[in-house]
Amino acid sequence: MTNTTFTPRVFSGMQPSGGLTLGNYLGALKRYVEMQDQGGFETIYCMVDLHAITTWQDPADLRAKTRELAAGYIAAGIDYEKSILINQSAVPEHAQLGWVFNCVARMGWMQRMTQFKDKAGKNAQNASLGLFAYPALMAADILIYHATHVPVGEDQKQHLELTRDIAAKFNHDYGVDFFPITEPVIEGVATRVMSLRDGSKKMSKSDPSDASRINMTDDADTIAKKIRKAKTDPDALPSEAKGLENRPEARNLVNIYAALGDMTVEQVLAEYGGAQFGTFKPALADLAVSKLAPISGEMARLMDDIPEIDRILARGAEQARTITAPILKKTYEIVGMVGA
Ligand code: ATP
Ligand code: MG
Repeated sequence: MTNTTFTPRVFSGMQPSGGLTLGNYLGALKRYVEMQDQGGFETIYCMVDLHAITTWQDPADLRAKTRELAAGYIAAGIDYEKSILINQSAVPEHAQLGWVFNCVARMGWMQRMTQFKDKAGKNAQNASLGLFAYPALMAADILIYHATHVPVGEDQKQHLELTRDIAAKFNHDYGVDFFPITEPVIEGVATRVMSLRDGSKKMSKSDPSDASRINMTDDADTIAKKIRKAKTDPDALPSEAKGLENRPEARNLVNIYAALGDMTVEQVLAEYGGAQFGTFKPALADLAVSKLAPISGEMARLMDDIPEIDRILARGAEQARTITAPILKKTYEIVGMVGA
């Protein structure tokens, strides 16, 4: 099976389950913009609100977060003239294909998903069925566009593998070559930004501790304070990357610096090797503020005109449906639905 017959197309999305974090920006959003600007791909970027309700969301809050996420995308450089920008629930074919994939994915596959185990925690019996089924809907988000490439953080690797398994099983079961076997794009030095409080946990927008993350909307003082308080060890920074092994918190801060500065880890250590955190942390805070402040300023400006955001999303949904409606129709025909 080859992907050569498919249009090179990028799809990715984020949940409006909280505000954007530095992890979302470095691991995903910054990469979205790069893939949009490098050319050679059609790019489609999404706010996945149907995923957000797999855990409880206050409705008014969810609406606000969805629009804020759209503003974050645009402020970071997603250009709705170059990319299709959409809210998931406004393009109903995502959920419709999601149902078909619920019937393709196997219980055993879903039970292996580590994100469900992490998010459901000790009380898995009380988690929503949606949280369990989430990766099948995610596969539909991607495959309803026949997307060939998906930029994501490292935590989504397993869900991307499941997406490939679902596409392959569908193609095999129905004897077709209909869905592409999508390539994950997990690149750069910040594919897994860690919590500032615990170097073994990833930074997440839904983490109850605000001190664990840098939010895109944090002001300069808050960013400086969070970085100053970030957990570290007492040693100076090494001059080579090897010296960061077994120092997860130090490695995390160096990776963040490298990603923000478009540098390699080696370049950062060439500059800061031998420095104490008392020197490195303020430098990191300055760099973070210089990169994030223009984006958060622009986000705030965009949030002053909600009707304009809604217009952009309505236009995106219209564009998206020219791709998704025919793919859903064909899927329904393949599986034997009458009247599709
Ligand atoms: P939640 O806690 O609600 O799951 P999240 O911060 O994990 O929120 P998602 O909406 O699940 O954000 O993910 C959006 C994108 O950001 C995905 O591509 C994901 O891989 C990426 N991402 C999330 N957290 C990180 C992180 N700490 N480092 C790098 N990339 C990340
Ligand atoms: Mg997540």
